[in-house]
Amino acid sequence: MPHVLDSSLAELEAQLVAWGEPRFRAKQIARWTLRHGARSFDEMTDLPAALRVRLADTFTIGALPELAARQADDGATTKVLLDLGAGAAVEAVRMDYDPDNDGAPDRTTVCVSTQVGCAMGCTFCATGQQGFTRNLTPGEIVEQVLAFSRERRVTNVVFMGMGEPLANYGPTLRAIRWLVDADGLDMRQRGITVSTVGLLHGIRRLADEGLQIGLTISLHAPDDELRRRLIPTSVGTTIDQLVAGAREYIAKQGRRVTFAYALLEGVNDEPAQARALARRIRGIQAHVNLIPYNPTAGAGLRRPSLGRVRAFQRELQFAGVNATVRIERGVEIAAACGQLRTDVQRLGADVIPLERVER
Ligand code: SF4
Repeated sequence: MPHVLDSSLAELEAQLVAWGEPRFRAKQIARWTLRHGARSFDEMTDLPAALRVRLADTFTIGALPELAARQADDGATTKVLLDLGAGAAVEAVRMDYDPDNDGAPDRTTVCVSTQVGCAMGCTFCATGQQGFTRNLTPGEIVEQVLAFSRERRVTNVVFMGMGEPLANYGPTLRAIRWLVDADGLDMRQRGITVSTVGLLHGIRRLADEGLQIGLTISLHAPDDELRRRLIPTSVGTTIDQLVAGAREYIAKQGRRVTFAYALLEGVNDEPAQARALARRIRGIQAHVNLIPYNPTAGAGLRRPSLGRVRAFQRELQFAGVNATVRIERGVEIAAACGQLRTDVQRLGADVIPLERVER
């Protein structure tokens, strides 16, 4: 049975009209599901009882069962492992930012997954080493946000968890529309960021969606040859094409684009590589987010020292490129970028508690 949020609002309206119900019922259902975090149609007390039964016979609704949860950073980072059934699970992470330390976070960001596993095969990424299992549905993506928004207001959602969002384009966009729709979660569009490893076709499609959402494109290398070694599936797309895609996005959406660059010691963190990177991207309204590599089991790669990270950043800044170093969150619970990995084995196998698999 599909989740009620697998439908768009227009499809839900059409379904209700086909059942002889007024169109506005769809908005009532959306508000109950997203704003009030309803876990069953029975909670929707302003709907007729017969309609609630019919909805329950047609759609699923409700929280994805939580298999495990862990906290880090004094409780400011929480990772949950959510059960998708049939042996599949995904992780979602909540990060609170409370700069004035008053206990009321100024910003709460949720990082969501869009696929079980990932087919892009980035050599430095735990998810990439796991391989691809399946795409998530819109309902499964939105439920990751609801897992946290039922407790507190979520201000930002980043599509940076497991999977490549633009390789699951339709469901990802449908989920985004539920997040920003006035009758959905009603989030600011600028609070949403999609992060891609560089699917050019998807970047161009996204530029035409008329959404004011942020875009992050992972470069990770200043030249195409090294980039292909780090991201084997990037064969066929050059850095110049991605920079052109970013320009197009900026021109159409009026939003700055971020280039993500995971720093790997001795691989892509030399000052000369920073200068080469700056030459490729200078002059466009973009900034570089440097991500000191988070070691993942078995990858055989190392994180550069803070000195090397700062030297790389200085080279970029000296060349006129705006560059920041990503604040690290949740490293000790393997919740940081590139570390999300589902350790639930496929079909019928036992769930491995997170404690046993995080190093
Ligand atoms: S870094 Fe992103 S795109 Fe690359 S394998 Fe990992 S999840 Fe997939």
